[in-house]
Amino acid sequence: MSKKTIAAIATALGEASLSVIRISGEDSIKIADKIFFSFSGVKLKELSGYSAAYGEVKDENRVLDDGVALVFKAPKSYTGEDVVEISLHGGRLIAREVLRLILAKGAVHAAPGEFTERAFLNGKTDLTKAESIMGLISAKSDAQLRLSRSAHLGKLAGKIEKIEEKLTTAAASIAAYSDYPEEDIEGLSEENFSAMLNDAKETLTEMLKSYDAGRVICEGVTTAIVGKPNVGKSTLMNMLSGVERSIVTDVAGTTRDIVEDTVSVGDIVLHLSDTAGIHSTEDKVEKIGVERADSRISESELILAVFDCSKPLDSDDYALLERVKPLNTIAIINKADVGMNADLGIFDGMITVKTSAKNGDGYDELCRAIAEITGTANLDPDSAVLIGERQRACAERALLAVEAASEALTLGCTVDAVGVCVDDALAALFELTGKRVTNEVTNEIFRRFCVGK
Ligand code: GDP
Repeated sequence: MSKKTIAAIATALGEASLSVIRISGEDSIKIADKIFFSFSGVKLKELSGYSAAYGEVKDENRVLDDGVALVFKAPKSYTGEDVVEISLHGGRLIAREVLRLILAKGAVHAAPGEFTERAFLNGKTDLTKAESIMGLISAKSDAQLRLSRSAHLGKLAGKIEKIEEKLTTAAASIAAYSDYPEEDIEGLSEENFSAMLNDAKETLTEMLKSYDAGRVICEGVTTAIVGKPNVGKSTLMNMLSGVERSIVTDVAGTTRDIVEDTVSVGDIVLHLSDTAGIHSTEDKVEKIGVERADSRISESELILAVFDCSKPLDSDDYALLERVKPLNTIAIINKADVGMNADLGIFDGMITVKTSAKNGDGYDELCRAIAEITGTANLDPDSAVLIGERQRACAERALLAVEAASEALTLGCTVDAVGVCVDDALAALFELTGKRVTNEVTNEIFRRFCVGK
């Protein structure tokens, strides 16, 4: 990777109180001194780390803005390099002009995530902490923020390091035994190995178990609201959204296509689709809507199937129930305010919630049911949770390798054979935390970041 000095606007582009430009690399202070002139006359290179100066940014003799330059000296900075952060008045033009000037003085524009990539390469952060930053920035719920925060604080890295330590001890003993088979090596007993491997297996299994619930919190759940016309689907969508997004009328078949919205329900983000009423129809346009609703059922991770229980259920309700029962479905028994005239026995074995979508009743019960069905109810967002498919795949590879090591041990295979499996497990864990990782993997991770981070 190029070790050129990089610069980028670190704040969102738009009108705001402040915008911040970040410069990182060997020449960052020298470059900043070419464009930033403190009112006290002190040059930035004269400042110690963690110091600030108030002054003007000038292009030749034209003043572009006044602001504050913060100096960080390597290795005590975000990237581990010399860093200058210049805070300016917020505004697209000011930030762009100042950045252009900094680039003209010798910096290159940072690639997405390049500041964090340098922090990683300079040992300031491991991969799990670096990846948590995107979660911190994009969190849409308190739980997602807490999950990302705990990874950022190093809880996940700490848990993985404990497994690594045990496996490294095992690998070292195995290597010693292979080199000196006749020596009596301390700690190298089958029981000790088994205990170490079982420990690793338990922790990894537990982590993988909580992955799905963590994913739900970080990514949200694709959710389809389905039901026959006029049962209250759009009213439920509006209740969840808190705004009138779907058209609610008492004319059956009003929602002829799909209305989408993203809403937070308790700790969970739902990517909602309010579908056309599912029922048998000869109307061509309605038929298309019904078909689309049906394919939304197949694509969604969660189904909210709505039934109007103020009336007896009919064949359309029964057909829908058959379709959604085997899926991840919550049956919404709506219009509870009118009275129960449906046979609720047909919902036996399903998760049900009684609502009056019109009055907003049943919201809390629905939140609890969604947390239950998505597995997030028992997830502690402050614990160490794997975030993202990359981390999950590494943990799974590590678990498979540890299981293979256990099996090799039980089958009485040679110590070397067990050692190969332990090495595989370690390689997967080192990739997870970034201790041993290819450039392709780091590129893939950091290019998903925003510019300036
Ligand atoms: P959709 O066709 O399934 O989307 O149904 P709508 O949401 O458009 O609602 C149809 C009618 O039922 C409207 O007049 C709503 O006001 C009414 N409605 C919806 N939910 C309730 C409810 O919980 N209680 C009562 N009494 N009426 C409701």
